[in-house]
Amino acid sequence: MSSPVILGRSHREAPTLRYDPTRAELAQLLADEPSYRVDQVWAGIHKHGAEIEDLSNVPKALRARLAEELPLGLTPEHESVSDDGETVKWLWRLHDGHHIETVLMHYDDRTTVCVSSQAGCAMACGFCATGQSGFDRHLSVGEIVEQVVRARRQSAPRRVSNIVFMGMGEPFANYDRTWSAVERLNHDLGIGARHITISTVGVIPGIERLADESLPVNLAVSLHSANDADRDALVPLNKRYPLTDLAQACARYIAAKNRRLSFEWALIDGVNDRPSDVDELANYARSLRAHINLIPLNPTPGYLTQGTPLDRVYAFRAALEERGANATVRRTRGTEIDAACGQLRASRRLVDPPRRR
Ligand code: SAH
Repeated sequence: MSSPVILGRSHREAPTLRYDPTRAELAQLLADEPSYRVDQVWAGIHKHGAEIEDLSNVPKALRARLAEELPLGLTPEHESVSDDGETVKWLWRLHDGHHIETVLMHYDDRTTVCVSSQAGCAMACGFCATGQSGFDRHLSVGEIVEQVVRARRQSAPRRVSNIVFMGMGEPFANYDRTWSAVERLNHDLGIGARHITISTVGVIPGIERLADESLPVNLAVSLHSANDADRDALVPLNKRYPLTDLAQACARYIAAKNRRLSFEWALIDGVNDRPSDVDELANYARSLRAHINLIPLNPTPGYLTQGTPLDRVYAFRAALEERGANATVRRTRGTEIDAACGQLRASRRLVDPPRRR
């Protein structure tokens, strides 16, 4: 049987990238080498985050072969620095021409890398720059892991302590690769499970699978509205996984993992910052003892409603606290470098202009 032909494109297999193979697959690739070489190469590129060329304990000929057979997957298209060097953002080009973003953020008490799990996103949240431009493809395990390795190299001597899956894409729409990447980050890069957070728009089967995994990572849910009519409009996936079902899945995760749940809430002027929103959100969050992260909406080209002004963001937070819910206002990082999800790619016109709403 002939392989399917995709019109207008050559049908090529994706290359195996440097961080794609498992340890067993690397061992297979190096089957003709002494076995300690596998350890040297594996630890060199993961634990030490070294370039192949810098693996001085590995013979030159083997380094050349590895560099050729396991190419890096990310080419920097743009790197921007803001907040006095405390925020660095990359726009990477993938081997097939798609683009993704990664952000490195230094804080007093931690250093966090925000990674993408897909090029583009199919969830179509209207206020999100990535959602406005649609889905390109899933990232491979190697493309996810490499984002952390490259950011960590830049971060040195400051150690990367936390990973958040809050870049482009919906991690649970790419569950298997996302999870394999999480295991690699934990096991081979040494990042504690409790320092890894997966953010989902509310893909219930993903939350359920996460509850059955052995690593207790943190779960964040992008809520944005706590009534179904409004959430249907903001987060289209709510029509499939409505709030009552979502709360049940979250409760199951908390019971299984004993980890704190958090809700993301991008405050949009006149849309989800009303007194009724405070009541609904406080009730929903309290029932799950969830922590609420309030983020003033970042402006994006395809969504004309403004973010809530900062004084009202703080008033919203105070009102939540009065109702017994815990909330934090998140400092926006790197707004001058378009560091919010998908914005750098959008502003550099690497995607079709978004539809106007
Ligand atoms: N798909 C996943 C993870 C990526 S988005 C999810 O939805 O959780 C990471 C966070 O940024 C989400 O909470 C998302 O709702 C939020 N976000 C997207 N666009 C935003 C914008 N313009 N302003 C503020 N937050 C935004």
